[in-house]
Amino acid sequence: MSGHLEPIRQMLEARLKEAAPTRALRESLLIDHVSDIADMNSQAAEREIAGQYIGNSSTLARRIRSAIERLKNGSYGVCLRCEEHIAPKRLRALPWAELCIHCQEDADRSGQQEQRARITIDRAEAA
Ligand SMILES: [Zn+2]
Repeated sequence: MSGHLEPIRQMLEARLKEAAPTRALRESLLIDHVSDIADMNSQAAEREIAGQYIGNSSTLARRIRSAIERLKNGSYGVCLRCEEHIAPKRLRALPWAELCIHCQEDADRSGQQEQRARITIDRAEAA
C-alpha cells in the first residue's frame, strides 16, 4: 500500500471500531426473553431501537471494511460502477464512498423511484 494511503487506512480502522456493534449491545438483545410481562412494551421498544442501531451501524461497518479492502488491493477511490476516480473532495467527506458523485446521484434517483413506486402500491392496496 502506498504511503499516502496509510493515514486513510488508520482513520477507516478507527471509524470501523466505532461503527461495529459492540458485543455488549448484541448481548443486551439476547438476554431479554423475560417473564416480566408488565415491562414488555418498553423492552420491545428498546429492542427495536437497538436493532435499528445495529442495522445501520453494520451497514456502515461493512462499507468501511470494503473500503479498507480496496485500499489494500489498490482500487480505493475508484467508482465501483463506472471505474472513474472519485473526487478527492468527496473522499475526504465520505472516505468509504463506493461510487462517484454521478453514479451516487443516479443510484439515489432510482432508489427514490423505487420508494415512490412502493408508496403507490401501498396506496392502491389501501384503497
Ligand atoms: Zn461512477
